[in-house]
Amino acid sequence: TKINKAACVGGGVIGGAWAARFLLAGIDVSMYDPHPEATRIVGEVLANAERAYGMLTMAPLPPRGTLSFAKSIEEAVQDADWIQESVPERLELKRGVLTQIDAAASPSALIGSSTSGLMPTDLQRDMKHPERFFVAHPYNPVYLLPLVELVGGQKTSKETIAKAKKLAATIGMEGVVIAKEIEAFVGDRLLEALWREALWLIQDDICDTETLDNVIRYSFGMRWAQMGLFETYRIAGGEAGMRHFLAQFGPCLQWPWTKFTDVVDLDDALVDKIGSQSDAQSGAYGIRELERIRDENLV
Ligand code: NAD
Repeated sequence: TKINKAACVGGGVIGGAWAARFLLAGIDVSMYDPHPEATRIVGEVLANAERAYGMLTMAPLPPRGTLSFAKSIEEAVQDADWIQESVPERLELKRGVLTQIDAAASPSALIGSSTSGLMPTDLQRDMKHPERFFVAHPYNPVYLLPLVELVGGQKTSKETIAKAKKLAATIGMEGVVIAKEIEAFVGDRLLEALWREALWLIQDDICDTETLDNVIRYSFGMRWAQMGLFETYRIAGGEAGMRHFLAQFGPCLQWPWTKFTDVVDLDDALVDKIGSQSDAQSGAYGIRELERIRDENLV
């Protein structure tokens, strides 16, 4: 019913932010990341997280957990109840790391992977105890955004997913169970479709990156944040609701939907164009500064 100790394997953008969420919920964290700057990077992410939590007017936080850095995966996962893998998005690398975690972890420990799109069945293939493995896909900043998509593979037990959902709630997370595994799960599939259209709009000079971001953040971004897609459009359907909305707008969307399948060629010229526009938009800020602006807005 409670996480006493968490282990984070991989402490980059996502692993560092997972560590911050656990620590600020009062849970001790053992981190393993071979990067020479791992201590500094995780420390900076934690400082941003503490600053964000300090701005939230909520019940006093429990005393912060203790962060330690381990010299090996085996050492990190000792006695951990929840082990979160957040190493780079490469199947073979993740499989190897997960096999090491699996061999050293306590049999009752839960093992979650932060993967943004790899299938849990592929990730758990070489594990001796694959039933306690699942995808726990978070959204950055993990310490502020509540969602974690919970996805089981063919060998994941139902008990594991149920337990993960309960434990996620103890660290303030909304564990949404995805019924079937599919590449990129639910959130990133939606974002992939948005990305594809955004690339066309930039390539064809319809707008620049700053205009596109403003269109999202001053309009449906705000609506989505409080009601999602379907409830928003139920309201758009007026008193007759969703069926009326679909009857009215469905036929108008048939034609554009058929166009939304072409994939833009992400060649050097387009990468350079997006990179230059993005630099002009916010290149004057350092990454930690941008993270602080984001966190303040989210709070
Ligand atoms: P990152 O490159 O910032 O961090 C990866 C870290 O893993 C690095 O610090 C690296 O030193 C470390 N690492 C490499 N090999 C390792 C090993 N054998 N053992 C332990 N640590 C090792 O990447 P990231 O953006 O944090 O992504 C990590 C995972 O999280 C990926 O699976 C990614 O798909 C997923 N994810 C990323 C985001 C995002 O917005 N960046 C969001 C959700 C999920």
